[in-house]
Amino acid sequence: MFIEIPNYKTLDLKNIVCDYNGTIAKDGKLLNGVGELFKKLTKDFKVFVITADTFGSVQKELQGFDIEIIVLKSTHHTVEKKDFLNSIGAQNSIAIGNGNNDSLMLQEANISIALIGDEGCSVKTLKNADIVCKNILDALELIIYPKRLIATLRE
Ligand SMILES: [Mg+2]
Repeated sequence: MFIEIPNYKTLDLKNIVCDYNGTIAKDGKLLNGVGELFKKLTKDFKVFVITADTFGSVQKELQGFDIEIIVLKSTHHTVEKKDFLNSIGAQNSIAIGNGNNDSLMLQEANISIALIGDEGCSVKTLKNADIVCKNILDALELIIYPKRLIATLRE
């Protein structure tokens, strides 16, 4: 999807990369309403969920969605998330996260959204974001209704 943001950036978005807990899930459970928005977004975008999977629940929670799940394996999750984003093309990606280990992924993505939800947000990650949202539904709707994204970011 092409999105022109006046005096900011022209985007050619293909990928959405989301953190799991604190971003689209709480205590391992997918948040209400996220699934419906993912069903819309997976028609136009490749959606990836990248997570340490603290609760061991991500596969079950996202069963049936056209989403690629990446469970982190290394001892340096911040770098592993960034490296994954670069492997799929950071220039064509929007990244969404809340944790410290999302900081480099948000820095590298062409557009990045930090979330301040129930688990809070790492300040380092917040500083690397283009936009801060108060919940994931608002964040995903910025992509579904890109005029909202344009209104927030244009200069
Ligand atoms: Mg998180």
